[in-house]
Amino acid sequence: MSKQKNMYELSVKQWNVFKGCRFDCTYCESSFKRQAKRQKRNCMKCYEYTPHTHPERLTQSLPRTKFMQFIFTCASGDIAFCPTSFLRNIVARIEKEPGKNFLIQSKNPKTFSRVSFPDNVILGTTIETNRNKLCKAVATAPLPSKRYKDFVKIEHPLKMVTIEPVMDFDLNVMVKWMKDIKPCMIWLGYDSKKCHLPEPELAKVRELHWELSRAGFVVMLKTIREARNS
Ligand code: SF4
Repeated sequence: MSKQKNMYELSVKQWNVFKGCRFDCTYCESSFKRQAKRQKRNCMKCYEYTPHTHPERLTQSLPRTKFMQFIFTCASGDIAFCPTSFLRNIVARIEKEPGKNFLIQSKNPKTFSRVSFPDNVILGTTIETNRNKLCKAVATAPLPSKRYKDFVKIEHPLKMVTIEPVMDFDLNVMVKWMKDIKPCMIWLGYDSKKCHLPEPELAKVRELHWELSRAGFVVMLKTIREARNS
């Protein structure tokens, strides 16, 4: 199993027209929230990770994207907390850039049903595990079973799932969920920090990678290593 491109290498720009989140994932403290702390001098709401908009960025120049690349839209936050009126403004700007690819992620995929996204947007969600109990212990986001059901209902040609930071799971359930969601791309990886999550054994992650690949999915690997709690 070799490591492939990092999601952030495929992202040509983080376009943070909306920032912040209240899902309080424990593993966010050492990633997105830590990055946001650099913004203290520029914007206190960014620093505190309070959901808020940056309307001045709606008209920013956006770079071109090549095959497999995208503009990571609202990367530092979750659009579930973005007002619908502002989300429409984001979509209106994206519609003016039909030759560029965009990625928008949410841990509450039901939020995608609020507006209609053009086909140059990849819609993504995180499903770190199928086990609700494990997720409940580390975040207030909708439980994985709800994310799965809601994401299946979203009718959109380009969907993506991030299984990262992977937590212990049931192989058959995870594979079934992916088959039902039909993502164009799946990211798989362990926690890249040291957040003490209930991690599956490496052999189990390899098996998931194998089964997903065998089912025809493009699986991009991120941090792959031995489980820390093994
Ligand atoms: S959903 Fe994403 S942005 Fe929100 S707290 Fe969790 S990791 Fe951070």
